[in-house]
Amino acid sequence: MSTESTSRTPIIKLHDETIKNLYVKREDFIPYSFGGNKARKAYGFFKEIDSGDYDTVVTYGSSHSNHCRVVANMAAGRGMPCLIIGPEEVSDNTYNSKMMELFGAEIINVPVSKVHDTIEKTLSDLRNMGKKPYFIQGGGHGDIGTQAYVDCYEEIKAFEESDNKYFDYIFFASGTGTTQAGLVCGQILSGDDREIVGISIARKNPRGRDVVLESITDYLDHKGVTYNREDVEKRTIFLDDYTADGYGSGNKCIMDTISNQLVINGMPLDSTYTGKAFYGMKEYVKSHNLSDKTILFIHTGGTPLFFDDLENL
Ligand SMILES: *Cc1c(COP(=O)(O)O)cnc(C)c1O
Repeated sequence: MSTESTSRTPIIKLHDETIKNLYVKREDFIPYSFGGNKARKAYGFFKEIDSGDYDTVVTYGSSHSNHCRVVANMAAGRGMPCLIIGPEEVSDNTYNSKMMELFGAEIINVPVSKVHDTIEKTLSDLRNMGKKPYFIQGGGHGDIGTQAYVDCYEEIKAFEESDNKYFDYIFFASGTGTTQAGLVCGQILSGDDREIVGISIARKNPRGRDVVLESITDYLDHKGVTYNREDVEKRTIFLDDYTADGYGSGNKCIMDTISNQLVINGMPLDSTYTGKAFYGMKEYVKSHNLSDKTILFIHTGGTPLFFDDLENL
């Protein structure tokens, strides 16, 4: 069972009508369980699991969750039981949920209002049975998840150096904000300047941005890095204009973006994360006249969700 951290994912140029220098970092090519940012984060969590004496993994997420699919896969590969607490409200069948079943994960669906208590009860029941559960927050939130994207930021810098390029802007889908927090921390640690723009897939401001800020300051505090609060705030751009009320599959602009990218660049996107972010990026670039900038889009994964969307394209 590999616990290696990810090899560097490719950065390639995309064909685009308006943005001449548009690149994509294909995190969906991380070579484990369809990759994506959840695979990059999960490597970190399982490194800790493997070095401890844990015997069960517990996490949280819906039936659409890329995080739960990857965690269930890594647990199954180790022959380790995996319990997933999920919200009843989002428990329909998807390719991700089908795989979680295949991996033998135990899914516990409860009303979203009972999730917190159910997690606590599940963990204490396991401990009372003499088990040693390892809990991973939904979406791989926390310092370990943040670290994964500090590492990713370093890969981007290494690419810039070896290919003699500089990205003025970095865009990506922001959910729990851990990916964004890692990128911003990476930027602070390396002391450079560029716009890192998270496109919210669900949360609205101010909460959405506050959660990212909290992840950033937690990480820096724990690492003992000193920072200027104002500077951190300035670097944290969290756009909540493109959430499509959480339902991307009912939004024609997002569905058109997905078809277009598949046709033009052979790149799969999905309506929950990457399709929304790609569409949001294009709109933002248009309204801010940024088409002459060198731009990097981070493809954060979610290929199984593309197949859920395929029937509606
Ligand atoms: C979870 C997820 C995101 C959001 O990542 P966060 O670190 O939670 O902000 C973006 N894209 C995909 C495909 C995801 O699965």
